[in-house]
Amino acid sequence: EVAVLRLGHRPGRDERMTTHVGLTARALGADRAVFPDNAGQSHETVADITDRFGGPFDVELTASPKALIRNWDGRIVHLTMYGERVQDVEGEIRSAHHDDEDPLLVVVGAEKVSFDVYEAADWNVGVTNQPHSEVAGLAVFLDRLFEGRELDREWVDADRRVIPMETGKRVESADADDDGE
Ligand code: SAM
Repeated sequence: EVAVLRLGHRPGRDERMTTHVGLTARALGADRAVFPDNAGQSHETVADITDRFGGPFDVELTASPKALIRNWDGRIVHLTMYGERVQDVEGEIRSAHHDDEDPLLVVVGAEKVSFDVYEAADWNVGVTNQPHSEVAGLAVFLDRLFEGRELDREWVDADRRVIPMETGKRVESADADDDGE
């Protein structure tokens, strides 16, 4: 299992970023996203997209993100511009993750992340050591973790499916007898 924890959420201001952390986690192969419990609106948006475009993907709220980190039964990656270079540690993380045997928690921040998170993490990982965005960092990290395989993922229980095309937009409703397999 790969779960993504969004640490910190400023209502209003962070609504789109938290939503995009969830949508990116879903689109790029994570199994689950967990938001702080004041991010109900983002939770609703991500759950709604999952209903329409398929899963499996879970989005949850937690009253205590720090407890999730403390009690996590697996490895923890914290994405931070101060961390080790993703290209140096991705292999080690992949081996430890063992193709889903060992659950992996990927933590991304909003504003300043407290030092206990750096200490709780098995790896503090920088996607470059430049300041940018939790959404961008998460996307690159997941793509490295899955070595691109997430791009071929099949979606189940979708109401609709986008038909890729050179020009134009086509969205078809997924047939009742086609669960995406
Ligand atoms: N300055 C804040 C701090 O010291 O923790 C970070 C704020 S940044 C806008 C929000 C989040 O984006 C960070 O917590 C981190 O998860 C992610 N992030 C930003 N730059 C990153 C990078 N180069 N590599 C990995 N994650 C990054």
